[in-house]
Amino acid sequence: MADGNWSIEDAEELYGVRRWGAGYFSIGESGNIRIAPNHRLPDVTIDMKDVLDEIRAEGIQLPAVIRFHDILRSQVEILNETFAKTIADANYNGCYSGVFPIKVNQMREVVEEIIDAGEPYNYGLEAGSKPELMAVLAYNENPDALTVLNGYKDEDYLTLALLGRQLRRKMLIVIEKYSELEMLIPLAKKLGVQPLIGLRSKMMVRSAGKWAGSSGDRAKFGLSITEILNIIELLKKEDMLECAKLLHFHIGSQMSDIRKVKEAVSEGARLYAKLIKEGVPLEYLDIGGGLGIDYDGTSSTTDSSRNYSTEEYVADVVYGVKQICDLEDVPHPNLVSESGRAITAHHSCVVTNIVGEIKNTGAQFDVSVSEGEHILVSNMRELVNSPNMHPQERYNDAASYKQSAYEAFKLGILSLNEMAKLDTMYWRILTEIHGSLDRDTFVFQELEELEDMLASQYLCNFSIFQSAADTWAIGQVLPIVPVSRLNEKPEVRCSIVDITCDSDGKLSKYIEGTEISDNIPMHNLRKGEDYFVGMFLTGAYQDVMGDMHNLFGRLTEVHIYCHDDEPGDFYIEEVVPGTAAEKVLETMQYNTDFMAKTVKKSIDREVRKGHIAPREGVRWTDYYEKCLAGSTYLKT
Ligand SMILES: *Cc1c(COP(=O)(O)O)cnc(C)c1O
Repeated sequence: MADGNWSIEDAEELYGVRRWGAGYFSIGESGNIRIAPNHRLPDVTIDMKDVLDEIRAEGIQLPAVIRFHDILRSQVEILNETFAKTIADANYNGCYSGVFPIKVNQMREVVEEIIDAGEPYNYGLEAGSKPELMAVLAYNENPDALTVLNGYKDEDYLTLALLGRQLRRKMLIVIEKYSELEMLIPLAKKLGVQPLIGLRSKMMVRSAGKWAGSSGDRAKFGLSITEILNIIELLKKEDMLECAKLLHFHIGSQMSDIRKVKEAVSEGARLYAKLIKEGVPLEYLDIGGGLGIDYDGTSSTTDSSRNYSTEEYVADVVYGVKQICDLEDVPHPNLVSESGRAITAHHSCVVTNIVGEIKNTGAQFDVSVSEGEHILVSNMRELVNSPNMHPQERYNDAASYKQSAYEAFKLGILSLNEMAKLDTMYWRILTEIHGSLDRDTFVFQELEELEDMLASQYLCNFSIFQSAADTWAIGQVLPIVPVSRLNEKPEVRCSIVDITCDSDGKLSKYIEGTEISDNIPMHNLRKGEDYFVGMFLTGAYQDVMGDMHNLFGRLTEVHIYCHDDEPGDFYIEEVVPGTAAEKVLETMQYNTDFMAKTVKKSIDREVRKGHIAPREGVRWTDYYEKCLAGSTYLKT
């Protein structure tokens, strides 16, 4: 149903799909979100509504995480090819050996896909903890790809890393603290394994934004220049200097300003050059993560954006390192980067449906005059009948009558009936004022307040704490857009709330054009018709950081591959069921067998007493067990 006054260009303007979509997401002619998941095949596109229809037809419940594996592959290819091309253009003498930091998304299928797509480029993995190291040992089998090991280490961590060396892998143990090296040296000697060592430098440059704490004097990670020199002394003394292969730094995630990238590269390259001149045989310079994502589509230095492209980032790294190395007359190092966010953010999204609307103006009561009614009720009625009053004055009067009514109710002066009448009239007046105002030309101070009060809340079948932790924790903006009907004008201003019993369970920042808003226009809900919304760019961190607040578990996952021989150019490769209620309960130490038995016993007791019929008792018992095995989310 197209709307004469509304086009998909207007929808694009409002939701900014192309601005944050990075070439993968757009709005199709049909008014549905379209995905072009393979950067090499821009004409092979998938209609998101077709995907949802197929998901529903297969009986899969929402909410679901949808993974586009081709986007993951494309991002790996783009990053590696951009480095390769820039290195060739710049006559840079080193190569690029990137690694994917699995903490950004440790899902096995994600890691496997990245390893597979990265194989031609010898793209490796990074781990920051013992369990992550165990995963990368098993999954990065390519002897020409790096495995970079960050994070704090104990003896087991170091021993596992040396096992990797025995398997002929390029395991680089990045030293964060002097004591780690003191632990490593005897271990390596005992096992007769020569380790590859990296040094993590504590950088002086401070990145801006949410992760600024990753650099500077007070940073949690890395070695000061003094510590680096002490480490080199120790390596020399132990006759192990030739093990020092890599210099590492990481100034923070989501670097929004390219100038900070340049600064960090200068500082890191200078340090590399000086260390080479000290005789340290470094071969790799690892610039860490930080390559940002333009979540809000503004191409700016806001915390949820970035003011540069991937090409620009890569060029600044390659040319920046080259320039300093040439000036210092040292060889160009091989370049390593640890981009996690940039590889994964686009590939997954959460799709869910709106299960209800919470509206202040929804309830209606008969407001006709009754005998002897309180003067406040008559006053409010008079306001209802004064449509030509100045809107601001009318608004102020309505608010003041409402406040007086509340006081009077507390004193027992107003009846329940009178309160309901006042309330109905109050919201009627506010809705009328709002409808008569032209947002662009008529502004008064309380307008925004009015808009907020009248905004509906769309109740969304998901949990912010499970699926979008950073929106709650650090005020991250994530695009949220209806999956279809984008060729219709969205008439309802609303905010999105989740189904947790937590008043923080709501999204409070929305992309509206090039601004960030407290609420967002969506379409009116139609009876008997699903309204699907997608929350996009959830592939980095959000996918894996969520918790089980209110015992809502992991979502069902649907893995999509594009293929032009398939109807709709896609197929569902795999469905991974979400966490069942019993599994979530078990992680909280509940014994669900015991729970089922206890409930059954209670039911049996009532059966014996004759309160419940025997057959009915069996049905109740089965039903309870079925719910334990079922989803934690609302069944719709
Ligand atoms: C988290 C982290 C990364 C990943 O950073 P992104 O900004 O997601 O690319 C890379 N390196 C280290 C050491 C990290 O801690």
